[in-house]
Amino acid sequence: MTTALYAGSFDPITNGHMDIATRASKIFDKLYIGIFATPNKNLTFSIEERVRLAREALAHLKNVEVNSYTTLTVQYARSIGAQVMVRGLRAVGDFEWEFEQAMMNKKLSPHLEMMFFMASQEYQFLSASLIREVASLGGEVSCLVPACVAEALKQKGLVKAEQVLDN
Ligand code: ADP
Repeated sequence: MTTALYAGSFDPITNGHMDIATRASKIFDKLYIGIFATPNKNLTFSIEERVRLAREALAHLKNVEVNSYTTLTVQYARSIGAQVMVRGLRAVGDFEWEFEQAMMNKKLSPHLEMMFFMASQEYQFLSASLIREVASLGGEVSCLVPACVAEALKQKGLVKAEQVLDN
């Protein structure tokens, strides 16, 4: 049985993350989505909210399980028996950071294999931080995030009731 871990901060989960999770779920017997509780960035959603949103968005994928973790990612991967770590690669900006992380993870955990999925064309420029920024300025983001996330952004007051697109 092949088990994989797709880890990140998912603040919040976007259609770009969904695309990677969906594709990976077809390849591995079991896919864990690991949500790192305390990343070194300003968070909009609490760990409970990030887990709830990802669970709701991914509920239709039966071999996918969403949990939070607080340890080193490679330690978490070992604790759930993952042989593979899945990452998404967008064309601009991701490579250098992902390469550095992959080298470090290989040092820390030589048996854990990294697998990179190229971001689909329509999600190349999509990031959770951009979603938060656009939503906070009243931009329409509902086509870029799962419905539960669009609703949560609205609840947070990050999306104004009357969406403004280009006026
Ligand atoms: P981000 O804040 O960049 O969305 P995360 O830590 O939540 O970051 O990302 C987790 C993983 O998902 C990383 O491997 C990241 O490169 C990947 N990822 C993020 N957004 C996308 C996207 N739009 N398409 C493909 N992969 C993505």
